[in-house]
Amino acid sequence: MEEQNMDSTKPTEKKTLPEPKDFFLKTSLYEPFEIYEEDTEKLFNIVFYKGIIDTYCISCEKKSTFKSVDNYVTRHFMVGSQPAVETYNNVDSFKSDYFLETKVFSKEFICTRKEKHKMVFHFFIDDNKITKIGQYPSLATLTNPDTKKYRRVLKEKHDELNKAIGLFAHGVGIGSFVYLRRIFEDLIEGAHAKAKNESMWDETLYKKQRMNGKIATLKDYLPDFLVEKKETYSILSKGIHELSEDECLNIFPVVKVGIELILDEKLEELEKQRKINEARVAISKTHQKTK
Ligand SMILES: [Zn+2]
Repeated sequence: MEEQNMDSTKPTEKKTLPEPKDFFLKTSLYEPFEIYEEDTEKLFNIVFYKGIIDTYCISCEKKSTFKSVDNYVTRHFMVGSQPAVETYNNVDSFKSDYFLETKVFSKEFICTRKEKHKMVFHFFIDDNKITKIGQYPSLATLTNPDTKKYRRVLKEKHDELNKAIGLFAHGVGIGSFVYLRRIFEDLIEGAHAKAKNESMWDETLYKKQRMNGKIATLKDYLPDFLVEKKETYSILSKGIHELSEDECLNIFPVVKVGIELILDEKLEELEKQRKINEARVAISKTHQKTK
């Protein structure tokens, strides 16, 4: 493995420490950056970044502006077997502790719309290297606001959709496909749960079917496009070990469209329900007044 990596990562080549905003929003986790002599100020600028960060807020569900919380940084360390924290609110006090052995720091940002909307980053500084070791919300969540409208229907699976898109964007076929397949199968299962209530439903037959057969059987509960192109989805029945990177990358966009179509229908249904509920309340209020 070591030898294979030699070509892509030349140890002598200097990888520049990114600007603060890029370090927070663009670098992936566990990617170490060497801190060269001339970079120390740059490092302090990251740790004590005072500027704003414009990015997607998962709680506001739209783009927002974040600012650093009183510009403080927390160091986490152990005293014997007891965990301890130390807070720094200026660069000078931080600089004096900078050469301490344990250097796990965290930095928080708050949404300027609502203070309780937070963004948190953790980093590890050791051997003159800085590595981002954690962040909330994840990079995939922040970089995929296009899928935000589906959060309402996907709930906890929403993160998986973003992970799938993130991996696909980096050319990771099988990995991205696994996430997408999980979501797709979940949505098909949702349609299956509804269809099972039909009096004529044949569960034994359904269980025996491959994915394109299942889609045909569930046609009344799925978008037309998905039913028309059902053969395309037969790949979903294949075991993960049978799939090639290219197969996964090729099928990804089609499966994604299938997922989006199901989700769009679910969103429409929610919207319709919301309007009906609003109208009911309005009618009952009018009715009360005219009594
Ligand atoms: Zn917010």
